[in-house]
Amino acid sequence: NVERAEDIQTARLALPVVAEEQQIMEAIHSNPCVVICGETGSGKTTQVPQFLYEAGYGSPGSPTPGMIGVTQPRRVAAVSMAKRVGTELGEGGKDKVSYQIRFDGTVNANTAIKFMTDGVLLRELAEDFLLSKYSAIIIDEAHERSINTDILIGVMSRVVRLRETMSKKKEETKPLRLIVMSATLRVSDFVQNTTLFSTPPPLLKIDARQHPVTPHFSRRTASDYVEEAYKKVCRINRRLPPGGILVFLTGQNEILALQRKLKQVFPVKSRQHEKRTEKYPLHVLPLYSLLPTREQLKVFEQPPEGTRLCVLATNVAETSLTIPGIRYVVDCGRSKERHYDKTTGVQSFRIQWISKASAEQRAGRAGRTGPGHCYKLYSSAIYETEFEKYAKPELLRMPIEGVVLQMKAMNIDTIVNFPFPSPPDRQSLHKAEKLLGYLRAIASDGALTELGRTMSYFPLSPRFAKILMIGQQHGCLPYVIAIVSALSVGDIFIPQQQLGFDANDEEEQDKDVPSFSSGVANDAKSKLRSSYFRAHTNFAAMDPESDVIKLLAVVCAFEYEKNAPDFCTRSFIRLKAMEETRKLRQQVSKIVMDNCPGVLPSFQAKLPPPSKLQIKALKQIVAAGFIDNIAIRADLLPNSDFKLNHIKQSTQIPYITLFPSSARPSDELSERSVFLHQTSVLAMSNTKPEYVIYSELTQSVSGSGKVWMKPLTTIK
Ligand code: ADP
Ligand code: MG
Repeated sequence: NVERAEDIQTARLALPVVAEEQQIMEAIHSNPCVVICGETGSGKTTQVPQFLYEAGYGSPGSPTPGMIGVTQPRRVAAVSMAKRVGTELGEGGKDKVSYQIRFDGTVNANTAIKFMTDGVLLRELAEDFLLSKYSAIIIDEAHERSINTDILIGVMSRVVRLRETMSKKKEETKPLRLIVMSATLRVSDFVQNTTLFSTPPPLLKIDARQHPVTPHFSRRTASDYVEEAYKKVCRINRRLPPGGILVFLTGQNEILALQRKLKQVFPVKSRQHEKRTEKYPLHVLPLYSLLPTREQLKVFEQPPEGTRLCVLATNVAETSLTIPGIRYVVDCGRSKERHYDKTTGVQSFRIQWISKASAEQRAGRAGRTGPGHCYKLYSSAIYETEFEKYAKPELLRMPIEGVVLQMKAMNIDTIVNFPFPSPPDRQSLHKAEKLLGYLRAIASDGALTELGRTMSYFPLSPRFAKILMIGQQHGCLPYVIAIVSALSVGDIFIPQQQLGFDANDEEEQDKDVPSFSSGVANDAKSKLRSSYFRAHTNFAAMDPESDVIKLLAVVCAFEYEKNAPDFCTRSFIRLKAMEETRKLRQQVSKIVMDNCPGVLPSFQAKLPPPSKLQIKALKQIVAAGFIDNIAIRADLLPNSDFKLNHIKQSTQIPYITLFPSSARPSDELSERSVFLHQTSVLAMSNTKPEYVIYSELTQSVSGSGKVWMKPLTTIK
């Protein structure tokens, strides 16, 4: 028996899902798997776990003693939803709701409802395929079709069947319920897929009491959508009645640029200086995944008295989070997606049109509290002709070696027979198996090797796990752990363009500040720039040719600093990333100690500087995990007529990769070349090494179309 606060109770009763409680619970009782579709904000994520809880799921001693597990594609959703459900359950239920994300968790002996990222549940499956701790699993946001969600649904269809069979034989084994939840009706890949479910699961549709949202298409589609968004927000704030504004943009840089500009025009004055220049102060909040969690959660708080809320968001706000009080949506109609070329492996971040389904989701955010408006920064003609109906599942877009390794560790050997909601093509599977074979994680018959099994214990991509496995020489292991942790967390350094000074432009991949330069004055700018370069040069001092050694220097220095936030600000590195790196180092060290006895006596956060010999060894160890990612300077090719003489900048030197970097076979040097990325130490120190090991190739789509490599290290 749950005692909820009165206001919570009232709010619950208004949610469409609550009206369907009985029907939902009956379906769950009588079917091993159920699919629930309902608009964002209809109450699926917060209410369905509570229905199960009140029906006795997760209570020790009941017929369904195991926990209720709820998966989310994003960490911020797992944390905030656990918090919200805890609050809704009131005093008695507070400690029953926990979350578990990659680096953080609150699960304890009392936990009945556990929110987690889908990656966390996948790892648990590798340890306990029956998921014996759970009595129900809810897979949320299935419409997003992330790789992990797709794999989970495939695996879970088998786990549910197995638990069913076993519960008939042994009384201690209880059946497991699977609930798949989606914000759109795009569920035919699950419901009508007979390899997945031999009898189609029942589909429950929740009728949302969504208020009407009036769409306003633009007459023309302007390319500078950040500027358009700015004008639109200004107009809404000056002319239209109260109500929050939610703006969808494609990335952090756009969001920060627009935030700066809006804050200047509509400042929120503190009470002391009562000089109000603008009538309507805007409470502008950014929302994107690299933002610290604490900052992200601010969107749920009441905006300050007398201000209008204006949230500038990426896709995060599309379905997972319902921000209260939004009445106006401004949608740029684009999103930034990682694009991966299957033949060449070249990646690019492309700003693309979203799908019609996404556009509908975004518009829907305006109709939660009352009638709303959606201002679309594109014409209806573009919408009709350029927008796909649905976005392509991630599994069909991305490399899948990590997924294949995980699946093999779950004893799913013949991946081609796996019940994927949408199966990947043979080429991607073949490529993944080839890389795993080359890393010696699988044998020639495709079976997982002993090494592969150990690699699968680590929350790291197969290449990083491999580096770790060979990293024991010369006492290097603690350094190797530090390096792979930082590489795997990624985005350690704050890119130059976010500081408001641009590097030599044409070379910038991923540049997305189209029209606003920052408000930083010129000499302040050059000061900032020189301290930026000083910080980077300092970190590169141990080895001016190796980006991984520079990264190691950062991780080591961080642990010796008393004032971590201050250190990060001074050094232009991201505190959140450093904290995650520290946690990952601990976690990886623990897995090493548990599974590879004797190689690591204990975890030490503070490491002494590596010796010359160790630095050399570290570079070779890292190279061994990426040896297929090697590039040679063009003048060293046999019969090359390219001359190095006149080239001043190392970023202008063509390199040639071992495997073709262009889909079109070509003899033209210019078509085959790749270049050092400007953020590399090799660019900063203007070094021109003969060979470079790189982590990935990226292509700038807006600028020159050149292919850049992200160097890891030289080998010497
Ligand atoms: P769905 O999963 O169907 O999209 P949710 O269960 O997430 O719906 O949301 C239901 C309602 O709960 C929404 O109206 C939302 O505003 C409210 N809500 C969710 N999280 C919070 C929170 N942290 N604070 C206040 N209200 C919240
Ligand atoms: Mg939800």
